[in-house]
Amino acid sequence: MEQKKAKKLGLFGGTFNPIHLGHLRAAEEVREELALGKVVFIPALIPPHKDSAGLPPPSDRLKMVEFAASTNPYFECSDVELLREAPSYTIDTLRAFSSRCPDTELYFIVGTDQFSEIDTWKDWEGLFELANFVVVTRPGEGTPALSMPLALKGLIQYDRTVSALEIYKHVSSTLIIICNITGIEVSSTHIRALLKEGKSIRHLVGEEVVDYIISRGLYEEEAG
Ligand code: ATP
Repeated sequence: MEQKKAKKLGLFGGTFNPIHLGHLRAAEEVREELALGKVVFIPALIPPHKDSAGLPPPSDRLKMVEFAASTNPYFECSDVELLREAPSYTIDTLRAFSSRCPDTELYFIVGTDQFSEIDTWKDWEGLFELANFVVVTRPGEGTPALSMPLALKGLIQYDRTVSALEIYKHVSSTLIIICNITGIEVSSTHIRALLKEGKSIRHLVGEEVVDYIISRGLYEEEAG
């Protein structure tokens, strides 16, 4: 019989360009709902699926993630993707965490927007052998059921619904958990647009992150 792993760890990958309160609130709601021991934020060096023109240096994005993570005792951040060659593939990150933490159940957190394209990620079928996936609803976006990629539908089966969680079982026994969060409707794109217009980003981004962005003059120029 398969042994139940002792610890539960959330992994939250993203460009975090910059990290905002929507990311933090999503991580906090998932952590609480699933009783995760910690959530680790993992900034990507170069994301495979995004335009990286005008992306601030990794050291700036990491610093902002560190500031944000330091506001919650359950949050941590990892530079694992920044130390690897680009592009940053999630499969490599999951392999690294599963060999580093063999007694830990991994829960990879992803928004519905990105999950709907997961069948375009490198070695996407292998992702579900390494971790459970927690798909968080992004406030203001479509319903999660519509975001399930077609290619995945034959590989999963509805299991149960528990309060805010709709749980599916993958053929490899890991779970795909749709987590209906209250969340905060904000995106990094919106933050960058506000900064470009010289507008305030306070109360959309943590205070230390606001101060860091202003002191470093980040996002003042048009990307690209
Ligand atoms: P951009 O606007 O530049 O595309 P973003 O705000 O979507 O950026 P990312 O760093 O790309 O931020 O997001 C990392 C992860 O967080 C993704 O899985 C994304 O779906 C999720 N996410 C981003 N914003 C929110 C939010 N407000 N609520 C819930 N999840 C979010």
